[in-house]
Amino acid sequence: MKNGIIQNSLLNNIESSDNFSFADHTTYGLGGKAKIAYFPKTEEEAAAVFKYLKDSGQMFIVLGNGSNVLASDNFFDGGVISTKYLKGITAYGGILRCLSGTTVNEVLRFCLENNLGGLEYLSGIPASIGGLALMNGGIPLRHIESDIKSVRIYDGKLIDLSNKKCKFGNKHSTMRDIDCIITSVNLSISAVPREASELKIKNFLSARGIQPKGKNCGCVFKNYNGFSAGKIIEDAGLKGIKIGGAEVSGIHANFIVNNEGTAKDVYSLIEYVKNKVYDLKGIKLEQEVVYIGEFNDFDG
Ligand SMILES: Cc1cc2nc3c(=O)[nH]c(=O)nc-3n(C[C@H](O)[C@H](O)[C@H](O)COP(=O)(O)OP(=O)(O)OC[C@H]3O[C@@H](n4cnc5c(N)ncnc54)[C@H](O)[C@@H]3O)c2cc1C
Repeated sequence: MKNGIIQNSLLNNIESSDNFSFADHTTYGLGGKAKIAYFPKTEEEAAAVFKYLKDSGQMFIVLGNGSNVLASDNFFDGGVISTKYLKGITAYGGILRCLSGTTVNEVLRFCLENNLGGLEYLSGIPASIGGLALMNGGIPLRHIESDIKSVRIYDGKLIDLSNKKCKFGNKHSTMRDIDCIITSVNLSISAVPREASELKIKNFLSARGIQPKGKNCGCVFKNYNGFSAGKIIEDAGLKGIKIGGAEVSGIHANFIVNNEGTAKDVYSLIEYVKNKVYDLKGIKLEQEVVYIGEFNDFDG
């Protein structure tokens, strides 16, 4: 099936594409191809394709904006459910209901156009709302958990999880532990004049400072017990080290950038940093970035 439609009455009209390139759909710009990708446009389609892949025993993953994943260079003999067309925003009574593939940029633009605010701190994060909810993304001052009312998931049935049931933690939520697809997220918002929001966005963007050059996934490791992982890596003397085309950024040591390297280079450097920090400081850094596919061995 090439750029086709799944021939199944339950799943009719869901777009699909053979030989989906991870390199073209992740901010690292790395990774091999996947056998097939599906592009649901509604929550029901997302649920149907999830059920179809699960029931048929196929290996599959869900992909949002691809900004916190590292896909293996090897062929992924399974399916990808991409949320890139699962978009839509509705506002009612202090709630913003976003389909999970809606990006942070799209949400902020909608808020500005409708004099709504409260989410300006998310400015500059390249993410889908579903990926952000799963990872409990944000900035040190505030994480998305503070603004989530509920999350709709499909795990065999479509259910709404209250904020409490999401059990948000350090770059973590219960959705990371269960086999599910997030189909939509309800966020709290308030009335804010456009000019006030614009000013906040400008300030949040400038506070992000100089971003490392080279393709990357943002922070690779979670902060450790409230200590900056970047500072720990820098103190271990690992800033600027390289394996192949992968480099620990000289600007921010928690960024590993890809300068025309391979996924194996990046993976090898992540594992090298992890081991070295443990040897030198006795600290077990936990990675934030999600691996897709097989990474058997590493150099370094
Ligand atoms: C330049 C740059 C700057 C960044 N700055 C920040 C920052 O300031 N703060 C921050 O928190 N993060 C930051 N990040 C990291 C990234 O944007 C976040 O981790 C974001 O939450 C990832 O969302 P995504 O849609 O790209 O998810 P993906 O990378 O596509 O996926 C991440 C994980 O979520 C799962 N997933 C995605 N969507 C769904 C869904 N609908 N249902 C179920 N599972 C899903 C995937 O299977 C995967 O396990 C940055 C990244 C880059 C490249």
